[in-house]
Amino acid sequence: MGRSIGRTVLIGAGLMGAAALVAAAVVSWRFAHYQPAEADIAPDPQAQAYFMDDYASARQAFLAQGDALAQRLNGVERFAIAVDSPRGIKDLYVDGLYVPAQSSPQRLLVLSAATHGIEGPAGSAVMRMFMAEFMQDELLAQTGVLFLHALNPYGFAQQRRVTEGNVDLNRNAGTNNALYQTQNAGYPVVHPLINPAAPADTQSWSHRLFLLRALGQVARHGMPVLRQAVLQGQYSTPQGIYYGGQALEPQLAALAPRLRALLNQYPLSMSIDLHTGYGERGKLHIFLNPPEDPHVRDALQAVFTGHTIDWGSGQDFYTVTGDVTSWIGTLRQGGAHLPAVFEYGTMNSQTTIGAIKSLHISVLENQGVQHGWASDDERVRIQRDYREMFNPSSSVWRTQVIARSRTLLRDVLAQLPQVQVQP
Ligand SMILES: [Zn+2]
Repeated sequence: MGRSIGRTVLIGAGLMGAAALVAAAVVSWRFAHYQPAEADIAPDPQAQAYFMDDYASARQAFLAQGDALAQRLNGVERFAIAVDSPRGIKDLYVDGLYVPAQSSPQRLLVLSAATHGIEGPAGSAVMRMFMAEFMQDELLAQTGVLFLHALNPYGFAQQRRVTEGNVDLNRNAGTNNALYQTQNAGYPVVHPLINPAAPADTQSWSHRLFLLRALGQVARHGMPVLRQAVLQGQYSTPQGIYYGGQALEPQLAALAPRLRALLNQYPLSMSIDLHTGYGERGKLHIFLNPPEDPHVRDALQAVFTGHTIDWGSGQDFYTVTGDVTSWIGTLRQGGAHLPAVFEYGTMNSQTTIGAIKSLHISVLENQGVQHGWASDDERVRIQRDYREMFNPSSSVWRTQVIARSRTLLRDVLAQLPQVQVQP
């Protein structure tokens, strides 16, 4: 081989290396500035009015609407479960409002919000839309409704997904202590990527290269395996993301006897837990862990006739351990329970880049809380991205959340009376 050929190869390799660097820089820049496209629809002012970003205002609005319902309807019960805060944050409550079926108790609908605290503004908005627009005589003759406002009031007030003890309430709802011994075999694999132990800094190399590092993991293990490992829930790393705790959180333990008493007055119950952050932006995903009982599966399919169900076994979604809506069903003795989750997508997490961006935002936020922030600017930027992921300020997104909830809940309530409970 002559010297000139060797030089040509060297220059070629150098150019290819440079091209790869430029490509990596472009991809990284696009990742850093990733923003899902907004739908081309006109914002609805009425939908905006339902959204209240701060916990205290949302709570006051919920209580005021509850007072109005209690005056108009028979047998309304209200309760408030105080949630203690070791850091001394005041006035944190799980508020309950129960409206019994007004003539014959055939079925109970449970609507819950802010299981993940920062998702509370959307959940609270949908709940108050329901209270304002759906609580009519025809519905309430045979259907009771239980509203659970802010299962995680700390997270709502402090704009975190988790409780004060870093517990993900939707990985915590166990019927016995076996849940907290669950081994998530994939979690140690992703642990170094998702739980870095240094002050949060988007400019650090580990974060500049986050996309490439994550794509390396995807290449090695495959997206479904990684999604499951990260999101399933884990019980071994208290400072890590998706930590499910070591015991049932106190507000769920306090809620259990009340739920048991109410659920068992009805032969059929359905619970819908309201969430944001996963799936296609502006879309309402019906997200279900596949139930073991085929009758429950058939009934869920019937209730959601005409709508697509994202079973937890699907490509884009994942199954979780210790979810609240299934746990509510375990408090029944006999009869049937239909557990459902509504997920309002924000980041197009069904795409690889959307999923990795969502993960990156979650990692940075938790890193900052656990290990501090590299600067105040970093804290502001990271917390803003986190809020925008779970509670987008976009008027278009908020319009979609209310409009799609209205349509789907109307259809669900039309189908629910057709469900036959197996004796
Ligand atoms: Zn959630």
